[in-house]
Amino acid sequence: MPALSSRITDLNEGGSDGWEVFYRARAMVAAGEKVTELTIGEHDIGTDEAILDAMYTSAKGGHTGYAMVPGVDALRDVVAERVTKRTGVATTRDNILITPGGQAALFAAHMAVCNPGDTALFIDPYYATYPASIRAASAEAHAIQTRADADFRPSRAAVEEAARLPRARSLLINSPNNPTGTVYPRQTLEMLAGVCTQNDLWLISDEVYDTQIWQGEHLSPRALPGMAERTLVIGSMSKSHAMTGSRIGWIVAPPSAIDALIDLATTTTYGVPGFIQDAALFALSQGAQVENAVADPYRRRRDLALSILADQQIVTAIPAQGAMYLMLDIRATGLSGRDFAEKLLDARRIAVMPGESFGRSAAGHLRVALTVDDARLAQALRELCAFAATIAKAA
Ligand code: PMP
Repeated sequence: MPALSSRITDLNEGGSDGWEVFYRARAMVAAGEKVTELTIGEHDIGTDEAILDAMYTSAKGGHTGYAMVPGVDALRDVVAERVTKRTGVATTRDNILITPGGQAALFAAHMAVCNPGDTALFIDPYYATYPASIRAASAEAHAIQTRADADFRPSRAAVEEAARLPRARSLLINSPNNPTGTVYPRQTLEMLAGVCTQNDLWLISDEVYDTQIWQGEHLSPRALPGMAERTLVIGSMSKSHAMTGSRIGWIVAPPSAIDALIDLATTTTYGVPGFIQDAALFALSQGAQVENAVADPYRRRRDLALSILADQQIVTAIPAQGAMYLMLDIRATGLSGRDFAEKLLDARRIAVMPGESFGRSAAGHLRVALTVDDARLAQALRELCAFAATIAKAA
């Protein structure tokens, strides 16, 4: 066959996409083995019945044809209202593009602001799809390293150095952060906004975990002075409303950027199914109660996990301030996150993500998704700690 494009074959730079442990665990489950899966950010609950009823009613009511490419007006209005209320920045439907999930929004955002060959910056550790999403837009992906002992927040020096790279065009940030659970304080966001302004960069702010805050508060950098004109916010209902499979999210951006993004959507997704948009509209109109019901178990499990980890010294938890994961430092075992995760899966049938899947800064760490019931999570964490102790002792 003729050659595929290097754009697509080099998405992962010929290396792995970082999901091996997840795929192996899934294969084990498919083969009938019992594995405790603490890998991807998939809820252990389904989408709320009432939201599904709204989806069904909409589909039965005839919303099964092509929907408006930018999103239906009513949904764009509700998202705009929500953003205005949560950030204080006046936002209208012209600032909103409805997308099939945050992932499509991440790709579209980079397509919108990067020319081929431009450099797109992001903070390491990062959500595993970031580098390939950037490369898919024919831009160069450049990771800015952080340190575990600085709570994985980027330093001004590191961000400024990256911002001065030739053709640096955008900076992608994610607070609350996947995988670390770090929530950036105002000071960090002001520093990042300052560097973007001084170096004329776009800021792409991935806020898909903005309803999952355990400590501190969520601040959208679009609300900082002068930032609305250079910020694209990525939103999603996957995490906030347990709607991962519905594929629904949005981009908040200046109207001229939204206009351009609508042209892109016309050639890629051609919009989001109308019945999904109607379900999203219904869900967003239910107020915070639905979101809290989705978020509360993660808060509870985070506290439970921290109390279990406090009983030993080998595995150290990074106390997540938000999101549905916990990062564990397993460097005391002498193993890499990858080796530990592979061995843990084989020996104990517990699947966690190696820190390395999320970048160099997370080496020697594991990401545990808090996505099983409390008793099973507690049991898995106790086993993980016992396993770590065995390895540390043997070393
Ligand atoms: N950003 C982050 C940080 C994520 O963790 C995820 C999903 N795990 C996404 C974006 C994409 O989510 P979705 O496409 O389901 O909206």
